Amino acid sequence: MPNILIVEDESRIASFIQKGLRSQGFTTTVVTDGQNVLDVVASGTFDLLILDLGLPSKDGFQVLQELRGQGEDLPVIILSARSDINDKVAGLEGGADDYVTKPFRFEELLARVRLRLRGHRTVRDATHLTLRSGNLVLDLRTRQVKISDRLIELPAREFAMVEMFCRHPGQVISREQLLDHVWGYDYNPGSNIVDVYVGYLRKKLGSKLIETVRGMGYRLRI
Ligand code: CA
Repeated sequence: MPNILIVEDESRIASFIQKGLRSQGFTTTVVTDGQNVLDVVASGTFDLLILDLGLPSKDGFQVLQELRGQGEDLPVIILSARSDINDKVAGLEGGADDYVTKPFRFEELLARVRLRLRGHRTVRDATHLTLRSGNLVLDLRTRQVKISDRLIELPAREFAMVEMFCRHPGQVISREQLLDHVWGYDYNPGSNIVDVYVGYLRKKLGSKLIETVRGMGYRLRI
């Protein structure tokens, strides 16, 4: 039975989410203040966190930053009335797995909760896996990347992107597929975040590793 932590100071919204999730068989806990979230996460066994941004004492961004700073990899879905693309990018860059804008339909939130729970489990089950492509080796357990035996540190999203390429070597992967896999969000198609991240990877892993396929996407050279 997945256990969901809901951090939301508006009781009407908190109880709406709680009721909906419980009717789907989830266990839920509600926290109404940003201040206590870290302690609650540490004391429980949660499978996912739904996090509001505007909270008393400590806002959601700060909570997220502290969680990730402690190495906590609990999946986080931000639920916020802030629909500005900069807030979304900041949330996702800050380590959130998804971002849902208020007002929202419960079905949408539920679909994203299910997706994130599944994604998380896949990663956890894949603990013994190593992916290789040419000189590139990804250890999915330690989340380490080596290229020609040189260890490269990659932040989570860059790692997820390399992982996507390594799982499909030589295949063209579209920007939409990368957005979906790495950010899991129905992003503004005009966003150039994928291109920006490919740029980061080329800098760290070598300029020739990822090839641009004009009008289609990117491909890992094999
Ligand atoms: Ca709020």
